[in-house]
Amino acid sequence: MKIGAMLGDVVRSLFSKPVTERYPFERKPAPERLRGKLYWDPSKCTGCQLCVKDCPSNALELVVLDKVNKRFVLRYHVDRCTYCAQCVQNCRFNCLNMSNEDWELAALNKEPFTVFYGKDEDVDFLLARAAQAGVSESCA
Ligand code: SF4
Ligand code: SF4
Repeated sequence: MKIGAMLGDVVRSLFSKPVTERYPFERKPAPERLRGKLYWDPSKCTGCQLCVKDCPSNALELVVLDKVNKRFVLRYHVDRCTYCAQCVQNCRFNCLNMSNEDWELAALNKEPFTVFYGKDEDVDFLLARAAQAGVSESCA
């Protein structure tokens, strides 16, 4: 490139608006169909385990504490999830959905990558049981 043309480009770029976004200082809404973090609604879950069986990444575990009284805890391994939405598509009771707002999932430690969904008392019970058995758990 000739020096004159190059200088022209430099001067033009000095006075034109950048095409890049200054993320994270400037944010645009995510696309409606973006597949971010998985969320679970336990109220409709039957404990059928279809989501667990269909997940290609072994990112889901459904702990059944009491099937009759629908006491389930869903353990979601965020770091294994490939955001394929297979589980969302296959749940016949629409218990699962993927957020288009919660997608900034990077973290400096591993705790946020294991998420427990369920009633607080059931999650607490599961964690206490794991602690008693000497199994370490992390919860976000
Ligand atoms: S597929 Fe749906 S109903 Fe079945 S265990 Fe998973 S979340 Fe519950
Ligand atoms: S989105 Fe895909 S990888 Fe993630 S939990 Fe669901 S089935 Fe598994």
